[in-house]
Amino acid sequence: MNPGNFQKLQQAFRGEVIQPGDSGYDDARKVYNAMIDKRPRLIARCVDVADIMAAVQFGRESDLLTAIRGGGHNAGGLGVCDDGLVIDLSRMRNVHVDPKAKTVRVAPGCVWGDVDHAAHAFGMATPTGIISTTGVAGLTLGGGIGHLTRRYGLTIDNLLSVDMVLADGSFVTASAKENPDLFWAVRGGGGNFGVVTSFLFRLQPVDTVYAGPTFWPLEQTEEVMKAYREFIVQAPEDVNGFFAFLTIPPAPMFPAHLHNQKVCGVMWCCTGAPEQAEKATRPLRAVGKPALDHVGPVPFPVVQSLFDAIYPPGLQWYWRADFFKELSDDAVRQHVEHGSRLPTMHSTMHLYPTNGAAHRIKNQDTAFSYRDANWAGVIVGVDPDPANRGKITSWCKDYFDALHPYSAGGAYVNFMMEEGQDRVKASFRDNYDRLATIKKKYDPANFFRVNQNIHAAT
Ligand SMILES: Cc1cc2nc3c(=O)[nH]c(=O)nc-3n(C[C@H](O)[C@H](O)[C@H](O)COP(=O)(O)OP(=O)(O)OC[C@H]3O[C@@H](n4cnc5c(N)ncnc54)[C@H](O)[C@@H]3O)c2cc1C
Repeated sequence: MNPGNFQKLQQAFRGEVIQPGDSGYDDARKVYNAMIDKRPRLIARCVDVADIMAAVQFGRESDLLTAIRGGGHNAGGLGVCDDGLVIDLSRMRNVHVDPKAKTVRVAPGCVWGDVDHAAHAFGMATPTGIISTTGVAGLTLGGGIGHLTRRYGLTIDNLLSVDMVLADGSFVTASAKENPDLFWAVRGGGGNFGVVTSFLFRLQPVDTVYAGPTFWPLEQTEEVMKAYREFIVQAPEDVNGFFAFLTIPPAPMFPAHLHNQKVCGVMWCCTGAPEQAEKATRPLRAVGKPALDHVGPVPFPVVQSLFDAIYPPGLQWYWRADFFKELSDDAVRQHVEHGSRLPTMHSTMHLYPTNGAAHRIKNQDTAFSYRDANWAGVIVGVDPDPANRGKITSWCKDYFDALHPYSAGGAYVNFMMEEGQDRVKASFRDNYDRLATIKKKYDPANFFRVNQNIHAAT
C-alpha cells in the first residue's frame, strides 16, 4: 500500500481502520458463512458517507481489490476479499420511518431485523426475506424474495431510491426520476455499480400475519408437492407459503416425538384476516396427514426471526440454486429422492414462490430477469462442524445436478456461490447486455468486482 494514500485515508476517516495484526482483525474479517476464510489487507469500517467516499478513493488510488460488506450474509463470501480492501458498512445502522409518507430510510449496514422492528411500531413492513439477520443491502440489490413476495412483490419493487458513491468517488441519487438507468440496474444487478449509502423503501400495511408451518412425514412428499405446485400458483396473493425439506429441530416449541424427524413442509405467511387466511390455506393443509399444523396469528417481526436461533452466524454453508417455471412429475421425483437425504440437521431445500404481485413487473422492467419463473429454489448444505464440509457440499451438488435440467436455466444471484461468468449471464439473461452498458457508464474499470460480476460492454 502506498504510504501517502494510507495517510490520506487515515486523515479523512472517522471510523475504524483494521489491519492484520490488530486485535479485532479476526473478528472483523469473519462473515456469516464460516466456510469463507478470507484475509483482507485492510478493513475500513465506515461510520458515514464521507468515510465511504474516502474508502472508495483509497481503494481506487491504491489499485486494491475492493469488497463491500453490508450484512456479511452472502453465501459465496462476496462481502469480503483476500489481500484487498473491505468497505465495511456494518456500523451504519440507522432506520428512519416516515409514517405519513409510509416510507422507511435505511442505512447500508442494517440487517432486516432493524427495519422490521422500526416499521412494526407503525403497523407496517417492507418485503424482505425470511431471516432477520440478513443484510438489507445485499438482499435488496439482488432482488429480495421472502414472506411477502406474493402480496407486495420483491424487495426491489418497493424500493423508491438509493444514494450511492460511484467508482469515481462522486455521490448520486438514483430513482425513477434521477439517473433512471442506474436505478434500473441496482434493482437486481447487485453491488456492481457503486456503494449504496442509503435505501428508501415504500412501507406496506403489514402488522400481525397468519403464519407458521405445516409439516408432513417424508412418505407423503410426492402427494404434497404435486398439490402444492397447483395450489400456490393460483392462491390469493395474500397467501404466501414456501415449500421446504427440513429436519425438525430438537427445540421445546416442537413436540418431542417429532424432534430430529426429516419432513417436508410449507411455511406460511398470510397477510389477510385470520379467518380468510385459514380458509384460503385449508385446501393444501388438508392434503394427506400432516405431522404438525401450527399456523395462527403472529406479529410479522416474530415470523421474520423464527429461524434466527437455528441459523446463528458461524455455521458451514454450501449453496446451489435455480429458478423454476414449473415442477414436472420428473422434477418432483428428483426432489423426493434428494430431499429425503438431508445430510445434516441444518441442511434444507426451499422453494420460494415468486409469482403473485412479483409477476406484475416484467423481466425488462428491472435488472432482475426471472419474473416469469414461479419459484426460486435453493439447496443449502449446512452444519456447524467443518469436518462435514465434504458431506454437505456433495449432497448439495448432486441435488442441484439432478434438478438443473428441469430449471428455467439461471439462478437468483443472492443464492449463488462464485460459479463463473456463464452462470452470471444465465441469471441476467436478456438483461445482461443492458447491464454491461450501464456498467461501462458508471464503473468502466470494474472497480466493483467482488460480486456476481457484470463485465463492462466493450
Ligand atoms: C441465512 C440466510 C438466509 C437468507 N434468506 C434470504 C431470503 O429469504 N431472501 C433473499 O432474497 N435472500 C436471502 N438470503 C440471501 C441474501 O440475500 C444474500 O446472501 C445477500 O447477499 C446478503 O446481503 P448482505 O448485505 O448480508 O451480504 P454481504 O455479504 O455484506 O454482501 C453481499 C453482496 O452485496 C454487495 N453489497 C453489500 N452492501 C452493499 C452496498 N451498500 N452497496 C453496494 N453493494 C453492496 C457486496 O458487494 C456483495 O457482493 C439469505 C442468506 C442467508 C445466509
